[in-house]
Amino acid sequence: MAHELTRRLIDAAVTAIRDHADELTGLDQAIGDGDHGINMKRGFDAIADAPELKTLPLGDALQKAGMTLVMKVGGASGPLFGSLLMAMGKAVPGDPTQGEQVQAMLAEGIAAVKKRGKSDAGEKTMLDVLVPVGETLAGELSRHASAKETLAGLCRAADAALERTRPMKASKGRASFLGDRSIGHLDPGARSSQLLIHAVCDAVAE
Ligand code: ADP
Ligand code: MG
Ligand code: MG
Repeated sequence: MAHELTRRLIDAAVTAIRDHADELTGLDQAIGDGDHGINMKRGFDAIADAPELKTLPLGDALQKAGMTLVMKVGGASGPLFGSLLMAMGKAVPGDPTQGEQVQAMLAEGIAAVKKRGKSDAGEKTMLDVLVPVGETLAGELSRHASAKETLAGLCRAADAALERTRPMKASKGRASFLGDRSIGHLDPGARSSQLLIHAVCDAVAE
């Protein structure tokens, strides 16, 4: 039987990546090797092709989805998004029932990306969306915002953070080979992170 929360999240994430694959590839054509949308779509198609994931509690499904990305996707993004999801799932193995648990999941996921990527915020990568979103979640929880306000705050934070990658100079990944020529373009992995944040917020709010 389908696990409702997991099913909604997987469906929303898969749809977001499929619908924007060409755009993601276009962003990567500007500052990388033009495969980011192809890579992400390959990974999320593989997640969609594993219907058993939708029967699992969220934490277990995230761990398996992360392993799928690591196995199926070449390039930087497979291991990085895979590490993100695996660490999130490990942090809270069943279903998160409190905002603090979601915050812990995101914090563990971000730590895993930093470790795997030997990277941090400010280097024009996916972390430049994930880190501010994590900070926003902590802030919303500490001021006891409603679930609706929190979700809206996370989406706003992701949008603003994505836009802030445009003037950044890349110091990690293929975009770093361009030096100053990486300035003036959105980071592809930051855009996919922002798309996934929106998908999660929409699916949770549903
Ligand atoms: P590749 O660059 O190997 O072709 P993708 O194009 O699929 O892989 O993914 C590129 C994205 O991966 C970048 O836009 C960036 O957000 C992210 N990325 C690359 N290297 C790192 C890193 N060391 N740490 C964090 N994110 C990274
Ligand atoms: Mg690429
Ligand atoms: Mg590549």
